[in-house]
Amino acid sequence: MDRQRAQAQLAQLKQQLNQERHAYYTQDAPLVTDAEYDRKYQQLLRLEQQFPELVTPDSPSQLVGDSPSPDFTKVRHEVPMLSMGDVFSYQELQEFNTRIHKTLEQAVDYCVELKIDGLALSLIYRQGRLVQGSTRGDGNVGEDVTANVRTIANIPTTLPEPVDLEVRGECYMPKAAFYKLNQQREENGDSIFANPRNAAAGSLRQLDANVTKQRQLQTFIYTVVQPANLGVQTQAEALKKMQAWGWQVNERHIVSHDLDQVADFIEQAQSQRDQLPYGIDGIVLKVNDLHLQQQLGNTVKVPRWEIAYKFPPEEVETKIQQIEWTV
Ligand code: NAD
Repeated sequence: MDRQRAQAQLAQLKQQLNQERHAYYTQDAPLVTDAEYDRKYQQLLRLEQQFPELVTPDSPSQLVGDSPSPDFTKVRHEVPMLSMGDVFSYQELQEFNTRIHKTLEQAVDYCVELKIDGLALSLIYRQGRLVQGSTRGDGNVGEDVTANVRTIANIPTTLPEPVDLEVRGECYMPKAAFYKLNQQREENGDSIFANPRNAAAGSLRQLDANVTKQRQLQTFIYTVVQPANLGVQTQAEALKKMQAWGWQVNERHIVSHDLDQVADFIEQAQSQRDQLPYGIDGIVLKVNDLHLQQQLGNTVKVPRWEIAYKFPPEEVETKIQQIEWTV
């Protein structure tokens, strides 16, 4: 393809993707499926790889999420909340592993976790007390949802020790709650949510915390921003300690250096996906040693020490599944 055609295609893709991102992140009302979005996004990445001089700051490849909604008080994240690189095949996972080993020149363990399909949440504690909850927003500035976060049952508001700490995780709506909510909305003649992820985002980003309270949101916490304050050196230790301190942590994770074991974990997760009471859209491979994570650092958009392996798109949800989850 010549440069001129690439430029025209990129302009069109950017315009479409940015419109779709706004509908998805800010309005919680996606215009297209994730698979459709991902397909166009990969097309944009391929063109930008071919013509790097055509990458512009307004390209979705350079942006995290979308601007925070003006309806909420803005919160500046001390440490940016980034997006995550993704791969769709074992070969790409192997390439990620090769890149990591080339940079670090040493053996590396990975902590392999489920990728929860919700929205990222930051929780700040001062002297062991919850003082702020916020969304990711554009990565640097998010939305203050503290009052809403306080209504979520599995978020501790006091910690066992009076430390200053920020943890991050995923806020999600269990499948059963999602189907019940949509059923109610249908009966009331309200618009229904496209999927549990959008229902979670629409429920957390409410101006009235009483509405959030009724939505039965839950969380899985997976990141500690100041690991020294928790006395941990690895991601697996962080998960264990965070669970001991009262946050809900997903127990389905492994630590391994062996990509065959990672492949087994992926296959198991994929085969159990429909039975899980919450949505997952892949797995996340993270360098386990937190010092090595620091050493690898981030690009403008994603950490270099982690990668998401995305599952192929799910079948359209059937009535049978709906019935199964509402009982
Ligand atoms: P992402 O959702 O693919 O991955 C990054 C996020 O994963 C993190 O911010 C975190 O919130 C989450 N996560 C879940 N489990 C985790 C774990 N165990 N450890 C660490 N993080 C975990 O990236 P993104 O930038 O938030 O969104 C991009 C994706 O959103 C696209 O691939 C697409 O599928 C979807 N999207 C869809 C539309 C649409 O119109 N349908 C529009 C925009 C984006």
